[in-house]
Amino acid sequence: MLSFVIDRPGPNDAQLLAEVDRTILSRFRSLRFSTELESRYEAETLEQRRQFLTAVGIGGILIYNLFMVSDWLSLNDMFTYVALGRVCLMTPIFVILLVIARRATTRQVVETTAAIGTVTCSVMPLVAMIYSESPFRLHYQLGMLLIMVYCTVIQQVPVRCAAVAMACMLVIQLVTTYLADFADYKIWQANALLFFSAGALLMMASWFLEHGSRLSYLFALRGRLLRAQLVELARIDSLTQLFNRRFQGEVLASLWSRAAQTPMNVAVILLDIDHFKSYNDNYGHLQGDTCLRLLSGVIQRTAQKADALTFRFGGEEILVLMTHAHPAQARALAENLRAAVAALNVPHPVLGDGARVTISLGLAIASATHTSAEVLIAMADKALYAAKGEGRDCLRCAPAEVA
Ligand code: GH3
Ligand code: MG
Ligand code: MG
Repeated sequence: MLSFVIDRPGPNDAQLLAEVDRTILSRFRSLRFSTELESRYEAETLEQRRQFLTAVGIGGILIYNLFMVSDWLSLNDMFTYVALGRVCLMTPIFVILLVIARRATTRQVVETTAAIGTVTCSVMPLVAMIYSESPFRLHYQLGMLLIMVYCTVIQQVPVRCAAVAMACMLVIQLVTTYLADFADYKIWQANALLFFSAGALLMMASWFLEHGSRLSYLFALRGRLLRAQLVELARIDSLTQLFNRRFQGEVLASLWSRAAQTPMNVAVILLDIDHFKSYNDNYGHLQGDTCLRLLSGVIQRTAQKADALTFRFGGEEILVLMTHAHPAQARALAENLRAAVAALNVPHPVLGDGARVTISLGLAIASATHTSAEVLIAMADKALYAAKGEGRDCLRCAPAEVA
């Protein structure tokens, strides 16, 4: 019921943070994380990659079609075929691939689709070049370098994907230029060497880019986890592990601002350990701390079962908060808390033979729309005072003011 006012770190966040730190230190040269971290990375970067690849994909399609100017200048005799191929064949293929990438639910599909689009677009102009007699074909085929740059540096597909795409493009390039037979073998070899060198340099760029983007993901995740840890630390009382008074103020403020829109009943149980000063005086403060920790733990667990939050209100006073509470439910929780502490059976012999540590409780319940948090707590405090006055180890309730 109260989950809407607090967001807490996941149970495995500490392990995940350690894993992130280990991965950063390991430098992950293989560009792979552990299975859990890898799937988290893929899931959390999926939407960002989809949006990025859509944007550069649209830009890529426009530039690809602009290359008709180059077709006109360098492959004039095949211009009609290449222009038709660009507009009527390749552009629709790109659009279909873009739609597939936008709908893909895994990074693998998104990246593969992007790489397939880029490799496919390199085929058509080079095949047309085979049938051309243009004297500028040697210059024309250099356009493939731009497609290789686009794939690795602009799309930034992951290294594994880039390696396959690069290999395909090199094969396409070498085969088509060989078949085009526009230059003697020495020139073909020199051209091939240029493409291999460009491919190798671009693969290095691809590695650095992927490493950089993985590293920034790790640092961003680390920042998020540390922040969650810090927020949690700022809310928790270090001795009892209950929420602290500062967080109690935040929760009450958030609850009351919600109650302004949606009326709700709020129950406050204020409880206090009986004769705790004499416990400290007789068994020492360290033993007192142990006792306080023990009681706080059992009170927290019991309250959690009723979906109530537990705050350390003061020294040995604890405030339990319950929303949408019916008076009978709140009373039942208070009685359960008293019984749970009694069941701990912590001896307090200075009070007499067989004496045990007990708690006294004051309960107040009211509509948050009509009663302020301060007034509600004051009502619970008065009821607690009554419980103390009536012999301790008991619950007293303020008159209910529910809507
Ligand atoms: P009552 O039944 O009326 O509540 O009596 P009491 O002795 O519990 O009440 P009092 O308020 O006089 O004493 C509370 C004691 O709680 C005093 C203080 O030493 C002790 N206390 C408060 N915070 C801590 C703490 O963090 N650790 C320890 N060990 N003792 C604490
Ligand atoms: Mg006390
Ligand atoms: Mg007290």
